Parts: sequence; C-alpha cells; structure tokens
Amino acid sequence: MSDSLQPENAQLNLTERDQKVIWHPYTQMKNALPHIPIVRGEGVYVFDEHGKRYIDAVSSWWVNIHGHTHPHIAKKVAEQLTVLEHVIFAGFTHEPAVLLAERLLPLLPGQQDKVFYTDNGSTAVEVALKMCLQYWDNKQQPKNKILAFKNAYHGDTFGAMSVSGRSIFTDAFNSLLFDVAFIDLPNADNIETLKAQIANLKAEVACFIFEPLILGSGGMLMYEAQYLDELVATCKQNNILTIADEVMTGFGRTGTYFACEKLTHKPDIFCLSKGLTGGTMPLGVTTCTNEIYNAFLSDDKLKTLYHGHSFTANPISCVASLASLDILLESTTLENIKRIEAKHAVFLQEIKNHVKVKAIRQTGTIIAIEWETGNETSYLSNLRNLLYAYFLDKGIILRPLGNIIYILPPYIISNEDLDYVYGAIKSALEEI
Ligand SMILES: *Cc1c(COP(=O)(O)O)cnc(C)c1O
Repeated sequence: MSDSLQPENAQLNLTERDQKVIWHPYTQMKNALPHIPIVRGEGVYVFDEHGKRYIDAVSSWWVNIHGHTHPHIAKKVAEQLTVLEHVIFAGFTHEPAVLLAERLLPLLPGQQDKVFYTDNGSTAVEVALKMCLQYWDNKQQPKNKILAFKNAYHGDTFGAMSVSGRSIFTDAFNSLLFDVAFIDLPNADNIETLKAQIANLKAEVACFIFEPLILGSGGMLMYEAQYLDELVATCKQNNILTIADEVMTGFGRTGTYFACEKLTHKPDIFCLSKGLTGGTMPLGVTTCTNEIYNAFLSDDKLKTLYHGHSFTANPISCVASLASLDILLESTTLENIKRIEAKHAVFLQEIKNHVKVKAIRQTGTIIAIEWETGNETSYLSNLRNLLYAYFLDKGIILRPLGNIIYILPPYIISNEDLDYVYGAIKSALEEI
C-alpha cells in the first residue's frame, strides 16, 4: 500500500490535481473558478490550505445545523466506528437505527408510525412517491398522477426531478420525466381556485408532494402556513395522500423543529435528510402512518415495497443523527434559532428600501434578498457570479440563486459573524 502521489502529479497543488480528475456538482466545468481546497472545519468556519477562514453562511448546502466538527457528534461517530460500521439492513437490524426511529417519530408533527431509511434527500423522496403510488395499487384503486408546486425542488433522481418544477436543471431530460399536475403556490386570491382544481383531480391523483412554507432551490419562495393547511385539508377530503418534503425545512430551520408544526392538518408522509445527521454523514428518512404501512402487509408478495439501498440505515449515520438530535433538543439551540430569527428581521428592515432590493423574505433562520435587475438580462447572468466571488473574497460562503441572495446559517453562528455577513451584503448593495 502506498499513499504517495504518482510522480507526474507531485508538483501540482490540490486545485490542479482536482481539475485533472474531478467533475463537480452543479458546475459548468469549462469556466469554473478554481475549486478551493478546504483542509479543516470548526464551528461556523471552514479553512483553506492557506489558512483563510470562510464563514459557512449556507451551512454547506443546507446540511450543517450545529457547526463543523461538533465535538459531541465527532465523539459518537468515532465510538460507533469501532463497534459496528455497517451491516446489511434486510434481515438484520441494529440499536442506532431503532433508537433513531424511536426518538424521531414522536418529534414529527401528527402521528407518524414507521421509518424507512435511505441515504439522501432525493431517495427519501423516491421512497415517498413509491409508497403513495403502490398504496393505491395495493388497495386496488390505482391512481398514477402526482400533484406538486410549479417551482418545487425535490431532488435530482428521475422521480424526484419529475415532481420538481421544469427548469434549466431538468431541461435535458424533460421528455423522459413523468407527467405531473403542477399548481401555483397558494395565497389569499387563488386558494379557492386551487382547492377546486384539486377536488377535480381526485380520481387520478395519488398524492400531493410539497416543501412546506418555503421552496428552497426554486428561489427561497415563501408562502403562508394557513393556505398550505387548506390544501392539505382539501387533499384529505379527496383521498389524496400528502407528502411533506422537509429535507431542507426539518430540524429547526423554519423556527420550529419541523415546518409542518404550523399546520393543523398533518401530512401522511415526511421526507428528511440534510440536517438529520447535523450535516456529518449522508442519511435519508421517509416516515409514514400505519394506515400506509398496513396497505403493504399481505400474503401476496407483489404488495411488498421492493426498494432498498446498500447503505440503508448506516449505523454511523444513525449515530450522527442521534448526537445531532441531542444538540437540537438542548434549550440553547432553540434560543439560537430565535436569536437568528430576530436579528435577520432587523437586518431586512434596514435594507428593504434600498434601490437595488426588489423584495425581501424571511422564514425562521432563512432570509432571501431579491436583487433588482431591471431589464438587463445579461447583467443578471453575470450578477450571480459577481456576488459569489465578492462574498468569497470577504471570507463568506454565500451562493446566490440567480439574483437571490439568501442566508441559511448553522444555528451556532455568533451575532458578530451575522453582523459581518449583513455588512458584506450592505457593501455589495453599494459596490456592485
Ligand atoms: C436538497 C433537497 C432535496 C434533495 O436532497 P439530496 O440529499 O440533495 O438528494 C430534496 N428536497 C428538498 C426540499 C431539498 O432541499
């Protein structure tokens, strides 16, 4: 065994070696900026090879809720590595998977009874869709249409892409995505129309999948709980199952542990990932009610849910999740969430009348600032890259979605670091 480099690569730095062998996600590799080698993470910061510090203001793609290399999670993960790293999850089980399900189910809004494990958000969504479609099939009332929001994002696998809004991300595949009934986000003006639309589709629609309160990748588009509640109620009245995709909103992001706590009518299924392990390990969870689970119990083998991944319920990931839950449930975490919410609100008031601010939005610990671009579309395409580089230069990781700047920080971010990020956005508004 040798960990020495091949001689021809010995003179290259990590960015150059990366360029030779790596294809990065969501990246046009032709003109990508050099990828920054990160050598260490601690709390809200990551550090590059030259010691430059970056504030991780997007929680490393929305996964990191308690900060990097959290000592409690690190300790539990390290211990588990010497006990059981992984075991096949068909025919076998283990304490971390059972304990996590036992602790997670009572925390979820409404009555959730069973956990199905996968290993990321997209697969958690795939499982939810399959549960719903096969539920109706198993009950011999087949329905094969799915209802979703127009600008939704539910992941990058084909099923998850199909129920996501059609966009530049899906363009190359649109002809192969299955047909979905897309509806607008609800508001006071259209809620009655939407309810009528749903009632009309009841015979063919198996389920309604939604990101509660906020559509993330679609541009941090926010809508009110009261109208989602009405849509969920309408689905229930019309025999349509409901799937809450809380992959981004789960674990405190919107101010409560789960966004659906704000609803009086609770969904049948939840999809969780991202913050689940505190951002340490990949893991996905799909939970459901016994009503759904029981429809798969049968002597007929065809009624089985034939789905599973090699790393289903990985013990290390489960242990990371248990440790993350410990931290989430500490009173200081909820206090931090409230502190961030309050500071965000003050900052938005300060900038809302700026000429370059077209719109501001907030849900819990997430704020979004829409940049006024006028009609200059070429400027728009450049703006995102300008802003991204501007913040990086200031030691802040912010990844605008087009002309929308958002902050989605780990809950442990200090007031000083939040003020620094706000200051950088204010100076961007003046300088760019
Ligand atoms: C990120 C995300 C997904 C996909 O999760 P991955 O782990 O990236 O596959 C699904 N739904 C929502 C709402 C997300 O934000």
